[in-house]
Amino acid sequence: MKYIYKIRLTFFLILTIIFTIQSFIKPQTNKNSFLVRVLLEEKNSLKKTFFKIEAEKGIILTSPHSNKKFFTKQDKIKIFIEDNNIYIPLLNKKSNQIKIKKIKSKELKITSINDFIKINNNTYQGNLKFKIEEKNNNYLIINTLSLEDYVYYVLPSEIYPSWPEEMRKVQAVVSRSYALYYINQVKKNKNNQRPYDLKRNNFHQTYNGFHEYYYLKKAIEDTKDMILIYNGQIALTMFDACCGGIVTSKMSNINFSKAPYLARDYTCNFCKNYKLYKWKKIIPETIFLNILKNDQKFKNKFKNCGKLKKVYVAKKDKSGITQKIRIVFSKKIISISGNDLWESMKNKIKSLSFQIKKSGNKIIIEGKGFGHQIGLCQRGARLLVDWGWKFKNILKFYYPNTKFARLKHA
Ligand SMILES: [Zn+2]
Repeated sequence: MKYIYKIRLTFFLILTIIFTIQSFIKPQTNKNSFLVRVLLEEKNSLKKTFFKIEAEKGIILTSPHSNKKFFTKQDKIKIFIEDNNIYIPLLNKKSNQIKIKKIKSKELKITSINDFIKINNNTYQGNLKFKIEEKNNNYLIINTLSLEDYVYYVLPSEIYPSWPEEMRKVQAVVSRSYALYYINQVKKNKNNQRPYDLKRNNFHQTYNGFHEYYYLKKAIEDTKDMILIYNGQIALTMFDACCGGIVTSKMSNINFSKAPYLARDYTCNFCKNYKLYKWKKIIPETIFLNILKNDQKFKNKFKNCGKLKKVYVAKKDKSGITQKIRIVFSKKIISISGNDLWESMKNKIKSLSFQIKKSGNKIIIEGKGFGHQIGLCQRGARLLVDWGWKFKNILKFYYPNTKFARLKHA
């Protein structure tokens, strides 16, 4: 009760008349389409955090467990989270005052009449769900929208929107298959029923919601429902910016048995004119050591080592992926994996295929490619489009032995 009246009245005076919705208002959703749930945010749910929610023709708030709906004619409301609870403003008709209601189920679904919702100045299609995860003291914000819309919104974040139509089609099929692969994975995994399918960043695919590159719709429509499959299963269509000429089938640290279409046994090299096909980074020794010392995953491995003498790659696999790095100090010698170093310095080390050495008080890292170097090489594909290749041939080149399939709607 202490929250009642606590929030500045100035805000609520411009707020809305909210009344309980009758069942006649329903959000526009296409029941026949595949839906994607994207995690937009995951943060601490103990401290007080406000969210500005806007929707042009009114906002519908639903508490999923009680199935209670509240409709606001206003186009703006402010909700907040604090101490593992979600609070929404509601108008008490009798007293004509705004009261703050605590959502008992700790889940709140937000939909709108025209299917677009703005949250803290970012607009999304579909609906938003707030969910408190008490055991982690976290709140999640999840955006659910149709798969086709999702692919359209992902496109300008994953390729340049100015890239040619054929390249947009390549990425549309890749992004659609990739999303569907994870939707299926989450469904299949009964032990870990996470409430979303994909993260919004490059952990999965970069998704920034609404954009105005309407012309990108054509690539989505021209490839509508098209995905890549292997052995009747949705292919995991991994992709990155530049393969650096790596032959993935020679990688020794990846088990390709479930996804042999990712083990390409021929080079791309069409990306060799891209600036990150070969790259070089020079880092002062002090910065290099500070990163290692402060990285939690190395714990205290890098404390009290003495002077840095030498850094070198101790092991590479046949594809050229750096597997082990040896760091020689005056007091001890430390080995770390190439992957661990890459994860610590992703803004400096562009791929897992690199050499490293110490020269004076500098660390010199030279490598090839940008990203994990598996699957579609976007820069390579971009050149093939210039050479007149069609999107289906490009996809067959980068995902050997996969087939095209169309999604069937219920
Ligand atoms: Zn390439």
